[in-house]
Amino acid sequence: MTAYDDQNIFAKILRGEIPNVTVYEDDDTLCFMDIMPRTDGHCLVIPKTPCRNVLDASDAQLAAVMRTVRRVARAAKAGFDADGITLQQFNETAGGQEVFHLHFHIHPRHEGVAMRPPGTMGDMDAIKAHAEKIRAAL
Ligand code: AMP
Repeated sequence: MTAYDDQNIFAKILRGEIPNVTVYEDDDTLCFMDIMPRTDGHCLVIPKTPCRNVLDASDAQLAAVMRTVRRVARAAKAGFDADGITLQQFNETAGGQEVFHLHFHIHPRHEGVAMRPPGTMGDMDAIKAHAEKIRAAL
């Protein structure tokens, strides 16, 4: 398996080299808003320690990340009065992964509302307001 590259964008976020809109953090994990949101409230959960994806993650990294995924997913469902939550997680290029630091996407979902296509930058004021909705429900 390809080695972890510490120049990936999420490693830079963890080192404070580029900004992020933080939703939640603890000793082991960080949750921040996706800058190209496919749903209102689209956010990402990552471990603070290096691994590319689920395929090389340790039990401890996965356990910590999934605890935070559940915690934020519950808050996102409440904060957005959502009907459900979609989780997405991609492994290696062929699996759809673009950033090679393990992450889970969290999407609040409403009945009959489709996800937007990928790749469009979000409005930062809206993203910040959506983060606050989740934070308020944590
Ligand atoms: P993937 O690896 O396919 O799960 O896609 C990476 C995700 O990271 C995409 O949803 C991007 O919109 C998101 N993303 C890329 N750069 C940033 C960034 N600087 N801050 C927040 N999200 C990002």
